[in-house]
Amino acid sequence: MTQALVGMDVSDLRTALGPEEPVFRARQIYEAIYRQRTPGLDRVTTLPKALRLRIEANFEYGLPEQAARYDSTDGTLRYLLKLADERTVETVLMPESDRNTICISSQIGCPVNCRFCLTALMGLERNLTAGEIVGQVLFVLEQNNLRTDVHRLNIVMMGQGEPLLNLDNVLKATRILTDEAGVGFSPRRITVSTSGIIPKMEEMGRAAVRPRLAISLNGSTEEQRRELMPITAKYHLRDLMEACKRYPLRPWEKLTFEHVLLAGVNDTDADARRVAKLLANINCKVNLIALNPGPGIPYATPSDERVSSFQAIVRRSVPCFIRKPRGRDVYAACGQLKRMESGLVELCP
Ligand code: SAH
Ligand code: SF4
Repeated sequence: MTQALVGMDVSDLRTALGPEEPVFRARQIYEAIYRQRTPGLDRVTTLPKALRLRIEANFEYGLPEQAARYDSTDGTLRYLLKLADERTVETVLMPESDRNTICISSQIGCPVNCRFCLTALMGLERNLTAGEIVGQVLFVLEQNNLRTDVHRLNIVMMGQGEPLLNLDNVLKATRILTDEAGVGFSPRRITVSTSGIIPKMEEMGRAAVRPRLAISLNGSTEEQRRELMPITAKYHLRDLMEACKRYPLRPWEKLTFEHVLLAGVNDTDADARRVAKLLANINCKVNLIALNPGPGIPYATPSDERVSSFQAIVRRSVPCFIRKPRGRDVYAACGQLKRMESGLVELCP
């Protein structure tokens, strides 16, 4: 079995190379993997020939392979990527005139049973490794000729999965993605979104290198949120709000709250007033997401007027934006990642 290089940090490389190789070799290979992004490491001529041969024999670069790509009319690309064990996961690129956002998955499927989300219907297949998380980013950069030093790029961990239930791998991937000797993203440009796994939020807050935090609110009373996000029975809304207030923000940072709007369920003016009240004393902004529909999701998308009216109320207490839906036509939008075949039949039952 060859070992994947993508996902290894300098200390993993040292272990993998063995004690006979000096530390600077591990660093050299690390830079070749993440900064130069040289898939054929055997071609890195600054490495001695014997080492190159050893790398070729025992390691592979380890990027995922494209199994399918779905192109939205709005320019969004949804990739179905095949991993080493033949399982597939989804990654989305949302190009805009002034920036590109890469939406990556943290797990295959998701164990959190939110009622409005297509990914929930997959259940959890498995956690992704740090290499598979980093690999999605490197794959999209390579395919689209994007460079961290040239283009304005954001990463959001809002694809399949609950990132905080795979926190160790998410944090390791973040360290690799933000390392200046490596891929070189600013931690300000990486956001992790959670359904509210309180102890893991606390753990992430203590990490030296960590992404920004977004919280999926989606309900403004205990009962309503429990109905839409049953995980609220374990991590109560009240405790979640307390954890948000305590969260150790860096000087440049605000929390983001996402609120999916479901017609007639959580999109009334009264809901908006409750959201405004809940968040009034938190250093945050709100993104409203009108439901992205899908088969098996028992809710409807509210009208644009309803969404605007909700925004106008929340805005009185905190900055509030409407997230433009991207790639809905190819099941690439928030909450739509379930390996759907473009618009019609599913690839995997
Ligand atoms: N598991 C994490 C991150 C992935 S979901 C989380 O839940 O935060 C990313 C965002 O999509 C979340 O804010 C979630 O509330 C939202 N979402 C889920 N299903 C949706 C749907 N059908 N329409 C619109 N947004 C949805
Ligand atoms: Fe999982 Fe997030 Fe979907 Fe909830 S909204 S089921 S936490 S991916």
